[in-house]
Amino acid sequence: MTFAGTLDRPDSREPGAPVAELREWLDRLEASGRLAIAKPGVSLEFELAAIAKRLDGHKATLFPKPLGHSMPVISGLLSDRRWMAEALGVRDGDLLRRFQEAVARPMPWQEQPSGPVQEVVHRDIDLAKLLPLPVHNERDSGPYITAGLLIARNPQTGIQNVTIHRLQLNAKDRLGILMLPRHTMSYYRMAEEAGHDLPVTIVIGVDPATLLSSQAIAPLDFDELTIAGALRGRPLEVVRSLTSEVRIPANAEIAIEGRILAGRREPEGPFGEFPQYYGERADQHVIQIDAVTHRRRPIFHTIVGGANEHLLLGGIPREATLLASLQRAFPGVRDVHLSRGGVCRYHLYVQFDKRQEGEAKNVIMAALGAHYDIKHVYVVDCDVDVHDPAEVEWAVATRFQGDRDLVVVNDAQGSKLDPSTRAGVGTKLGFDATAPLDAPEMRFTRIRVPGEDSLDLDTLLQSPGDAHWRVEAGND
Ligand code: MN
Repeated sequence: MTFAGTLDRPDSREPGAPVAELREWLDRLEASGRLAIAKPGVSLEFELAAIAKRLDGHKATLFPKPLGHSMPVISGLLSDRRWMAEALGVRDGDLLRRFQEAVARPMPWQEQPSGPVQEVVHRDIDLAKLLPLPVHNERDSGPYITAGLLIARNPQTGIQNVTIHRLQLNAKDRLGILMLPRHTMSYYRMAEEAGHDLPVTIVIGVDPATLLSSQAIAPLDFDELTIAGALRGRPLEVVRSLTSEVRIPANAEIAIEGRILAGRREPEGPFGEFPQYYGERADQHVIQIDAVTHRRRPIFHTIVGGANEHLLLGGIPREATLLASLQRAFPGVRDVHLSRGGVCRYHLYVQFDKRQEGEAKNVIMAALGAHYDIKHVYVVDCDVDVHDPAEVEWAVATRFQGDRDLVVVNDAQGSKLDPSTRAGVGTKLGFDATAPLDAPEMRFTRIRVPGEDSLDLDTLLQSPGDAHWRVEAGND
């Protein structure tokens, strides 16, 4: 099966060009054995998510014909950090730097009169019939759209915002939306105060760079689609929505056009979220759908709540933002990592070249203030790999003493989705696991066998067919 007809450097470790289209990325995954294809008839309720989650982090999964639908579903597109680097055309270690560059030098999009995303138009909307909407986790309230890039415009300036919200199927032409007090919400409030609905278009099935750019921690009125252009190395082509001024990626698979209704709320949730718990049921905002457009033979993308794709999509852009902000104050900060066990949000590892005693504690204080989600910060020396949790644990085990190296901040703002907080208020901890600068030279020197990392085993080991040691052993 071929999606776009481009098979390009599937196994190469040298980075190639950034991937410009979703179908190109699917071809790449398939050609390199990273795309599992399900049999027809997989149930949209739980079974699809169960298969995708079993393969999470190893393979993406394509469901060509889920039960009751002819529209294929894809999941797990970017469930490995190395895949993200590959899709952006950079080496693994350059992923954060590439993202930082794109945020620093965004590229304006280019408008076209028409695009594939509008090849087919529906005005009479029954979402569950039109789209294969899965139910993911056991206690989810029902079907959700989880990989929809919601694009809205500042009602006063027209500047666009892009982000992913969880979208519950409320009725055949209505979606419930969880809006946290961020950018979509501020545009919505402007519209609601003027007594208007806020036009939005939800885009499903985009290229990896556009998907990743939607998760950038950017200021208000920073159009994330311009980050997508910079990541791709060429402007993103957009078209105007049919029912509003919202501009959307021209090559997306599916677009759902509608309005977040002024003054309207309906119950939404529960829904399985990134901390591996359910977000609660509460009255939330509502989107009235006015049109659905898509490519001929479109592909629907779903992100399983709490799986690697969900965690990493949020985690990588955060790491890039945190690294940039820490490095501004502390040039000795070399790398950061939001660990998988800390749900790519709560646990931050910082690799730091300490030059002054006490500096690591200042790094801890800056990191705890950098994003409210960060709960525990671990600062380690440059000989510790922050991408390996066992390395960080080793540093805490051997370079940390609780009486002098622990920072505790009570009653700080944390994540409302962390069930151990009191409505989002909780305790922050910082672990200074750097070695003291004045310690005797040998005390914190790691043991090492010279050559263990650099020798070439192929030249030094026998292969199975070579001379047998048993023949020679024991002769005297
Ligand atoms: Mn934004």
